[in-house]
Amino acid sequence: MLNDDQIGLLLQSARAVQSRAVAPYSQYKVGAALMAATGRIYTGMNIENATYSAVHAENLALYVALMTGETEFLGLVVVTNDANMPYPCGSCRQELSHHCKPDFGIIGANLTQRREQKTLGELLPDLFGADNLKT
Ligand SMILES: [Zn+2]
Repeated sequence: MLNDDQIGLLLQSARAVQSRAVAPYSQYKVGAALMAATGRIYTGMNIENATYSAVHAENLALYVALMTGETEFLGLVVVTNDANMPYPCGSCRQELSHHCKPDFGIIGANLTQRREQKTLGELLPDLFGADNLKT
């Protein structure tokens, strides 16, 4: 879970990177900021292409953090501009579940409001994970 200071830093970082989102098809610009246990912040924005596939902001932030060697994470903030404040989509929740503990904090926000912090465990209960593949 994230404290108020961490949330403030992540909101600022997510909004800064959101402006670089590449969303010519959906016009739905997303910014995400992920805090590792080391205190470092990793950001990502959505990137769409003409095949209508996209890299989601949350996954991009996670992948960059993993690429730098981070292994433990505290929480994530996701920002958009519209009235429908986001939590990560199902696909991103699944990806996060492979690298983050159930108490990992997640907050969605738009320009004027933010959602309450929920845990990954609350947003993805009864997840499918590595334990399911053990025989
Ligand atoms: Zn997603």
